Amino acid sequence: MGRPKKTKTGVKKVGKRKNPLQSVRGMHDILPVDQKYWDHVINNFVDTIDPFGFQKIETPTLERTELFARGIGDETDIVSKEMFTFTDKSGDSLTLRPEWTAGIARAYIEKGMSSLSQPVKLFATGPLFRHERPQSGRYRQFHQLDLEVIGDKNPIIDAQVIFLAWKILQNIGLKDIEIQINSVGCPECRHEYNSALASFLSAKKNRLCADCKKRSKKNALRVFDCKNEKCQSLLNDAPDIIDSLCEECHNHFKIILEYMDELAIPYNLNSKLVRGLDYYTKTTFEIWYKGSKEKPVELALGGGGRYDNLVELLGGRPTPAVGIALGIERIVDLLKEEKINISEKNKKTDVLLIQLGNLAKKKSLHIFDNILENGIKAKEALHKSSIKSQLRLADNLGAKFAVIIGQKEVLDGTALIRNMQSGIQEIVSADKLIPEIKERLRNYKKDK
Ligand code: AMP
Repeated sequence: MGRPKKTKTGVKKVGKRKNPLQSVRGMHDILPVDQKYWDHVINNFVDTIDPFGFQKIETPTLERTELFARGIGDETDIVSKEMFTFTDKSGDSLTLRPEWTAGIARAYIEKGMSSLSQPVKLFATGPLFRHERPQSGRYRQFHQLDLEVIGDKNPIIDAQVIFLAWKILQNIGLKDIEIQINSVGCPECRHEYNSALASFLSAKKNRLCADCKKRSKKNALRVFDCKNEKCQSLLNDAPDIIDSLCEECHNHFKIILEYMDELAIPYNLNSKLVRGLDYYTKTTFEIWYKGSKEKPVELALGGGGRYDNLVELLGGRPTPAVGIALGIERIVDLLKEEKINISEKNKKTDVLLIQLGNLAKKKSLHIFDNILENGIKAKEALHKSSIKSQLRLADNLGAKFAVIIGQKEVLDGTALIRNMQSGIQEIVSADKLIPEIKERLRNYKKDK
């Protein structure tokens, strides 16, 4: 490749020149045609969690690299292989957030949220970045719906967060969901398990991949994250982590399962589910889409767990917490593939303002503003000219009435109000347009 060359713009040239008109590998546009799916997912998410007292948080896309290295763990795939990290002009190492939890825990500590009534229930939606090999359903920039409950150690919170993930997906329209659940214990029982796993793996070390050889010595649990099938098959007879749980972790897990039974949420115990991040303690879980009997699918839509030591590890007081993240792209892909009916809340309107001819177009600017100022849910069609296409738009938008203004109406100081269902048109005085529309909307509701 040779040494990087500096160009006139100061941008260093490394390797082959890339087409600037092509989006960066693994990053995608969310086009207007797809926005209805995104709105459907995010609106259902917000509506589902609203009664449970979650508040929105937005954290910066960039954080100090050290935050993720310390919080997620150096041995994890995310930190060791997948982060978009660079040095800024002041020489600081910064990273595009690869997950939500570390940044939200940082904000909780930095902004003194421990002095608020606990637990603090937060939600977030937005982009995350991981330098993984792009493939179907796996991007380098992707988006998640995220929930974090910080400041409560009660197992009912774990069960509630899992329940919410399940409920959000039900409300979005994805019904065939299964929860996989495990407990990775606390540092004490995990230490014991890691030693047992390390000695189990030492007999097989020559068959492990190079990464897992290192992991088996430093942090054996991370071998479960390996994507290499050979390493996974060596784990088939590995000791079961559930057998190493201390009494407190065991009871915590048992109570969650009782709550899950109570909520009648389908779940499977999976003792290999350790979830790729060092900060998890006790509960870990994943949410899988299974498809129907006729069309079975296996797709991970989300995951999460308890992280009772993260806040302290990052410099805060000991604070138990639990969280979950659901991948929006995968949910949207499924909605399309499974042809699930989605509600289009914002598309519907009460009134469409239709204009014909240049004079009416000009007057429409002010008339439309007046309609909106009076609190009427309306849309305009200034980009269209023919009556036919504007009436078609009124139908598509589900408009109850169309207000029609042509050259004649402008000159007479009138407007036409057309009932879109009956097709009946009435002439009203332009001065009385607003009360006339309001009255018709009131009667429309009564007639329904
Ligand atoms: P994780 O943060 O790895 O537990 O992932 C939680 C969920 O986010 C996954 O189940 C996916 O739905 C989604 N997700 C994670 N990584 C990606 C990615 N690279 N591209 C698209 N979605 C992802």
